[in-house]
Amino acid sequence: MTLRVDVFTLFPGLIGAYTGESILGRASDAGHLDVRAHDLRMAATDVHRTVDDSPFGGGAGMVMMPEPVFAAVELVEPPRPLILLSPAGRRFDQSVAVELAALDGFSLLCGRYEGVDERIRTELCDDELSLGDYVLAGGELAALAVIEAVARLRPGVLGNSASPEDESFTDGLLEYPHWTRPAEFRGWSVPDVLLSGDHARVARWRRAAALVRTIERRPDLIEQRGGLTEADQDLLDEFGTPHPNH
Ligand code: SAM
Repeated sequence: MTLRVDVFTLFPGLIGAYTGESILGRASDAGHLDVRAHDLRMAATDVHRTVDDSPFGGGAGMVMMPEPVFAAVELVEPPRPLILLSPAGRRFDQSVAVELAALDGFSLLCGRYEGVDERIRTELCDDELSLGDYVLAGGELAALAVIEAVARLRPGVLGNSASPEDESFTDGLLEYPHWTRPAEFRGWSVPDVLLSGDHARVARWRRAAALVRTIERRPDLIEQRGGLTEADQDLLDEFGTPHPNH
């Protein structure tokens, strides 16, 4: 099943350049993903194809006008929900990515300048997402982050060799640390358990390492899961409380 994502932007080239490469490019070639970038100027009617105007009430900067934005969206009739990227939106995280990955499609509206006329938010868009508590120059980077995080949850996108199942946030935990060859590098060695060939013990160790990492760095995530289970505690006891990286 193809996931369709329509992106409304003043810079459609930015979207195409990124989604045409690497994992997203391969996903598109294989028919898992269909990203369509639409130029918000497409329906602007004046000779300069103007999409912004100064704010009522005065102040610095420009605001994206309702007419060309409504017209572009109505011309395309993109898949809903139509999501506005905005620092004032609900925070985008893995659980929102899972929500969006369950849909057949959705659309993203990228602001620029000081943002969009409020009627675009209230009367045209269905939802609003923020990438975090900082201000970007435009919604394009945020749109790409959303597309990539969602697309890699869709079946077939990561291929058979990689799976999002063990990754950070999937089970409310950060992921365990990874090592590759050489087993000894400049005197820093890989934990013995990973070289043991005992797959069950490796799995238990990794789970303990994920728990320790999350306890140390993101206690809020542990709290969100309702604390440690008895099984979690048993694993921590099995491998000791010292940092499992060592
Ligand atoms: N004046 C706005 C404010 O103070 O909230 C910031 C506007 S910003 C310069 C222009 C556009 O970038 C926004 O309309 C939005 O689409 C996008 N943007 C900026 N920061 C973002 C964030 N943290 N998450 C999602 N989109 C963001």
